[in-house]
Amino acid sequence: MSLEGKTAVITGSNSGIGLGIAWELARAGADVVLNSFTDRDQDHALAAEIAQETGTNARYIKADMSVGGECRALVEKAGACDILVNNAGIQHVSPINEFPVEKWDAIIAINMSSAFHTTAAALPMMRDAGWGRVINIASAHGLTASPYKSAYVAAKHGVVGMTKVVALETAEEPITANAICPGYVLTPLVEAQIPDTMKEYDMDRETVIREVMLARQPSKEFATVEQLGGTCVFLSSDAAAQITGTTISVDGGWTAL
Ligand code: NAD
Repeated sequence: MSLEGKTAVITGSNSGIGLGIAWELARAGADVVLNSFTDRDQDHALAAEIAQETGTNARYIKADMSVGGECRALVEKAGACDILVNNAGIQHVSPINEFPVEKWDAIIAINMSSAFHTTAAALPMMRDAGWGRVINIASAHGLTASPYKSAYVAAKHGVVGMTKVVALETAEEPITANAICPGYVLTPLVEAQIPDTMKEYDMDRETVIREVMLARQPSKEFATVEQLGGTCVFLSSDAAAQITGTTISVDGGWTAL
């Protein structure tokens, strides 16, 4: 499947899953637009590396996904948006009665409302182009819950619901909207939690990974950013043209429990 001639905008893609998705879409031939809220040389260098390795036109555009206007401006600055991957996300863990209001607001804005704004800006471009893919990176927490993650679980369930609405509003057009629901993926974000968890449980690294982090992931393996990128390539393929309004779990069996 070649995605040559398509432009993909991936929010929150200067690390982790978003960066992995950008690589796989570029390897499949798409021009990719990387994004985060920073504007460092290293951000632009990531895009340059993808462009050099894949021969595609890869760019980096700064935009803060907590600000609606910047979400819309990202899509407009991209100039084209055939594949929109809403990936930017943050996490905060706290009992609901102690949950800081500013963390709640930030998680709802970045993890959920950003997808509303980017999708609103991208759909007219997809309609003009006569083809489009909206891919929302939700989570196993878009389908199930865990304690202390009220904002994250609410936002991810919201994204899954919004995905269905976008699919229905585009159902008779050559545009699809789906959500990918990853289980645990070993990104820098997750890697950074391992030392503290080792201390908290007085366990070694392997035991923390198996017994704590992957306690609910029956495969006992992390999903990889390459697998998530591959899922995005599949959803962008002709084979997936009738897949819309649904979720694809990449979670080692978490949601089968
Ligand atoms: P990460 O921290 O490596 O990546 C998050 C990305 O979002 C980064 O590029 C960061 O710069 C960007 N970002 C954060 N705030 C932003 C803002 N205001 N504006 C623009 N960009 C912003 O984490 P990750 O693990 O790669 O997570 C990516 C997505 O995958 C998130 O939506 C997360 O909820 C989801 N997810 C992750 C896992 C996992 O186990 N890692 C599991 C399920 C779902």
